[in-house]
Amino acid sequence: MILNLYPWLINLYKEIILSNIFKRKNFGLIINYNTNLNVDNLVINIIKWLFCNYKINYKFCNKCINCNLLNNSNHPNYYCFDKNSNISLDMVKNINKIFFNNLYISKYKIIYFSNFNFSNKFINNFLLKIIEDSFYNVIIIFSCLSYIKIPNTILSRCYKYIIFSPNENYILNWILNNYKNIKLNFNKFKILSSIRISNFSPLLSVYLLEKLWLLRKNFINNINFIFYKNISKYVILFYNNHLLEYYINWFLYILLDILRFNKFKIIYYNIDYIYIIKYLSNLLSINKIFLIIDEIFLFLNDFKNNLNFNKNIFYYKLIYNIFYIINFLK
Ligand SMILES: [Zn+2]
Repeated sequence: MILNLYPWLINLYKEIILSNIFKRKNFGLIINYNTNLNVDNLVINIIKWLFCNYKINYKFCNKCINCNLLNNSNHPNYYCFDKNSNISLDMVKNINKIFFNNLYISKYKIIYFSNFNFSNKFINNFLLKIIEDSFYNVIIIFSCLSYIKIPNTILSRCYKYIIFSPNENYILNWILNNYKNIKLNFNKFKILSSIRISNFSPLLSVYLLEKLWLLRKNFINNINFIFYKNISKYVILFYNNHLLEYYINWFLYILLDILRFNKFKIIYYNIDYIYIIKYLSNLLSINKIFLIIDEIFLFLNDFKNNLNFNKNIFYYKLIYNIFYIINFLK
């Protein structure tokens, strides 16, 4: 039985499960993805299969003690680190727990780093020691957008798999077949736009359509209005910690569409707002668009690297600079 495995993950699940890698002792497994594909869902299915007492072929039973412990997020031989974990402190504490918990011993000790995107000498040495010297059968699993942060010494002990997002027609059909409310309320152009500006992530596009669509509509209308009038007064209104990431993302896709306008006629991201893209393309020169994109990347960098700083300052600086580019530069 495969529980809740998204269809785009099934092939890779079977490929990994039916390969010979698990005959080896102590190794790493890297699953590299290009967009949000819910790889956690794949990993937990792989782990269930590994731990299950009654697996047949690529199926696990979902009833045995191991399957049940995993279903309750309570398996003593497995620990998952996600973005909320305090890596250096939690790591030693929890990995020791996995290794020295004698309540229940299964064939493997599994450590999973979900969305691995950090690295330091301490962590590298610690992981390396586990893979090299462990007396147990240890599997360290990483899922990540890029394995650049995984040090070479560990990388060489890992099996690497890559999963790409499905194509947009596949995602479109998956959405139409699984979300009746979306099928009823959105036409094909809107759904395709949502897929494209969600970086071809099926789940993010559903989230955009179901939860954020009205916000996006307002955002694009406001952008249009702001460029038509005067940017400085209105952009300030967009400031909202929770949604800023989406706004920046949507704004970048609009700028990219303006750059493409009349040049590459085939692909636009916001295909449901071509008339606004066309209008904006008359107002913004290519030079200005590149300068604005530069400003946005500088902003994102400041934002990411100054966690303790007041974020509003960076945001206001961004707005001021965009305003300046639009109004005072040629
Ligand atoms: Zn089982």
